[in-house]
Amino acid sequence: MDRFCRVVVVAVAGKQSVAVFGSSGSIGLSTLDVLERNQSKYTVAALTANSSVEVVFQQCLKFKPMVAAMAEPAAAAELSLRLKAASSETEVLHGPDALTQIAADPNIPIIMAAIVGFAGLPPTLAAARCGKRILLANKESMVVAGEFLTRVAAQGGASFVPVDSEHNAIFQCLPETNRCKPDAGLQGGVQSLVLTASGGPFRQFSLEQMQSVTIDAALNHPNWDMGPKISVDSATMMNKGLEVIEASYLFGIDESLIEVVVHPESFIHSMVRYIDGSVLAQLGQADMRTPIANALAWPDRVETSVEPLDFVRIGSLNFEAPDHERFPCLLLARQALRKGGGAPGILNAANEVAVQEFLDGKIQFSDIASVNSHVLQSFEFAVPQSVDDLISMDQSARQYALDYIEQQGYQPVE
Ligand code: NAD
Ligand code: MG
Repeated sequence: MDRFCRVVVVAVAGKQSVAVFGSSGSIGLSTLDVLERNQSKYTVAALTANSSVEVVFQQCLKFKPMVAAMAEPAAAAELSLRLKAASSETEVLHGPDALTQIAADPNIPIIMAAIVGFAGLPPTLAAARCGKRILLANKESMVVAGEFLTRVAAQGGASFVPVDSEHNAIFQCLPETNRCKPDAGLQGGVQSLVLTASGGPFRQFSLEQMQSVTIDAALNHPNWDMGPKISVDSATMMNKGLEVIEASYLFGIDESLIEVVVHPESFIHSMVRYIDGSVLAQLGQADMRTPIANALAWPDRVETSVEPLDFVRIGSLNFEAPDHERFPCLLLARQALRKGGGAPGILNAANEVAVQEFLDGKIQFSDIASVNSHVLQSFEFAVPQSVDDLISMDQSARQYALDYIEQQGYQPVE
């Protein structure tokens, strides 16, 4: 590990310092809720967001972090002015370099990686290099750069503790010796992983019904309250595809040994099968504060205000196979993982573009899968040898997806 980025101060007055990346988002807000309830153990050292000045301003007044960073310079300037006027001592930084600087700060041992999309990769990578404990919500960074991130983390002495509810469930169900060890694979009698999926808002829609769904309908997840990008990913089931890739890299398990089962109630968050026939499952409410608290405190436990499960009220749990005809994105992700090299990153880039175009009303919901499929099958790129290669591949694949969308002349959403 580079001696200049070693974590030198682990605790301030007995408390552990946490940086929350993406503090204005859904995971960011839930993280701050858990941290607020556990103030005797943790202190919020840094907050970052893209452009949500008002939210971060209020968070700074409440949590008094040493530093806050906004990716957008104009937002940072406004935040700085407002904090000064409020006599706050929080220093305000801006731009992508500020994010990596905070991620590498030796005074902050715990990083909540909750930026959405590829933009989360640079700070996550910096934290991995510097031996941090990374609470990983930003699945896209693991999808795009899984091999690099896990290698860099091993070299830097960092650990990834998954926050994604399925991966956190698997983390909890794995043998102790396999946790935070992507090279553990099937050790300890593990046979395979079972990711559960809610099926999203269109689980029971016909192909015809899915042709004309609205943006609001796609954002309206039946069980989880999440940011817009992951909500649309859940509706296409690309989210589950990204999660298969994420699980494969995080736990060192081959794609063929990662099963997906639709479980509409979302109480079982995922499972691990063992060679003796046992299946261990983790259950809980569809509330991200549980996996966030688990990732934060592991191997200890801290309190959340999450409501206990009432089994009698739940009554029954249901399971069904995913329908690949109506939800082709799941198989695209498996294909990308088997292809390896840069393929998961290419698919991720296409999907980020397609989801944004859908959210901007420029393409239909069903076009997302078509764009993803086309870009994955036809965009060619040499196998990335470095993170710089990944970044340039991401940019080219995005442009390729945008060009394709333009050529197709898709109908905008009504
Ligand atoms: P969100 O859209 O609610 O929040 C995203 C955060 O990232 C915001 O704080 C935003 O300011 C910040 N951000 C966006 N673009 C940025 C950029 N270019 N530079 C810096 N910051 C930027 O998203 P979310 O639902 O909280 O999801 C965050 C991540 O966690 C995603 O990768 C998602 O897949 C994952 N995740 C979310 C949930 C959930 O329940 N919301 C569950 C599992 C995994
Ligand atoms: Mg998930």
